[in-house]
Amino acid sequence: MTVVVVGLGPAGTFATRALAPAGHRVTAIDAGTPGDTGRAPLAAAAPTLRSATHEEAVRVPVPQAGRDGIGGSKLLAAPQSYRLDPWTLQMRSRVEARHDAGVLPPGTDVRDWPIDPADLHEWYERVENLLRVGPRPATRWTRRMADVARRLGLEPFAAPAAASPDTGALLGEAVETGRVATMLGATVLEVLTDHAGVAGVRIHHEGRIRTLRARAVVLAGSVLANVRLLLLSGLGGPVVGRYFMSHNFLRVRGYFPGEDLDRGSAGPATATAVAEYDADGIDCTRHGFVGGSILQAAMTGPDPSPDPDRGAVWAQPEQLPYRDNAIDLDPMVIDALGRPVARITFALHEDDHRRARYLQGAMRDWLLAAGAVTTVADEFVAQPLGTHLYGGARMGTDPASSVVDGYGRVHGVPGLVVTGTATFPTIGGRGPVQTVEALAWRSATALAADLR
Ligand SMILES: Cc1cc2nc3c(=O)[nH]c(=O)nc-3n(C[C@H](O)[C@H](O)[C@H](O)COP(=O)(O)OP(=O)(O)OC[C@H]3O[C@@H](n4cnc5c(N)ncnc54)[C@H](O)[C@@H]3O)c2cc1C
Repeated sequence: MTVVVVGLGPAGTFATRALAPAGHRVTAIDAGTPGDTGRAPLAAAAPTLRSATHEEAVRVPVPQAGRDGIGGSKLLAAPQSYRLDPWTLQMRSRVEARHDAGVLPPGTDVRDWPIDPADLHEWYERVENLLRVGPRPATRWTRRMADVARRLGLEPFAAPAAASPDTGALLGEAVETGRVATMLGATVLEVLTDHAGVAGVRIHHEGRIRTLRARAVVLAGSVLANVRLLLLSGLGGPVVGRYFMSHNFLRVRGYFPGEDLDRGSAGPATATAVAEYDADGIDCTRHGFVGGSILQAAMTGPDPSPDPDRGAVWAQPEQLPYRDNAIDLDPMVIDALGRPVARITFALHEDDHRRARYLQGAMRDWLLAAGAVTTVADEFVAQPLGTHLYGGARMGTDPASSVVDGYGRVHGVPGLVVTGTATFPTIGGRGPVQTVEALAWRSATALAADLR
């Protein structure tokens, strides 16, 4: 019987690539169709949003930032390709060893990943070799910001980026094994189980609803889709949907009157980065928050500025797993097939504001040292529908506080695997995609062995 992979973004593509060569038949399903540039309405039905459980959630006019179809949101990505700092995987024990767990704010439940950083390191290396991850050539702006960072006592480096990001080609290699059937424009509606575990999926395709039987299912639909599918299927246990997190991006712009900074001459992946403010680089007992972010003087950044004399530094700050930041099903709002949409409850907390103020200060200092006459920080706002969402199906060893194990296997449901950022227990201050790829490859390799 086949393995169904739900979603053909980076996670689903890497899972398919691991399963098919290992001898398994794979049906790889994606809701998007070739030529789509946006979101598939059933798989990515716009969620509702509220900032606290006592509030009524409101419909948001747009779905989450991203794109459906082969390649998923990576087709919109820069694509910068970072490894997480090992500290991120071991945040709880490292904080306890250096300070005291009391520095973690009330309402959070920070847990270590059930993965040895040295193990993940090996999978990062495989991904980096496959995608030829490395620095992009420097430009006038990135070189200038690197020189200034060195003067400030920092150790700047060129942001790593994938030279070969073509997910379609990667999938093509798996299809060549003859064991992969792809179904595009099809939406998985529910995961079906029986007493033994996974039994198949219910899908919507070409206007009809039907059942595909499967031995195993890999959910690779990204956070909102994966968590909604688990909830609609009645699977995932007591904390499914909990500990939802986002990179609430920061940007500070500097004004360099009369200069042409040449910021537009390369893509947004090209950046000078500094890592001193990420992970445990900042003393959390002094500043009242844990974790930080890579800072990047990027070429165009997430929101390009057309003005040649404005330079920007941006950050993707850590956010801790708060129990009340969560995804569940909205009892009032349904999609075109009458299924509840996802409801997001999400608020920033005091530690988010402290971290943001601290990082904005460091970003401002960097720009001023580079000669900016004035700087302006974008308002720090919650970004629950931003480009980097996390959690809701986090990994751990205890089914009471996690949804999946270290290989993405849903506790108590043999044959069901979740991949992607929904499984991250903590997020770190750098982009997720390389970790998504490494974990998907690792999880699917373990699944292939389980099914033998
Ligand atoms: C504008 C933008 C820029 C970014 N830049 C970076 C960057 O520079 N570096 C970085 O590390 N990260 C970046 N990211 C994040 C990165 O793209 C994502 O982390 C990554 O794409 C996640 O991969 P995924 O496969 O888990 O999910 P996705 O890429 O979201 O793919 C999921 C796929 O699943 C399909 N799907 C979902 N539900 C169903 C269903 N029920 N049935 C069938 N199919 C379904 C969807 O159609 C979609 O194709 C960026 C994201 C965006 C939006």
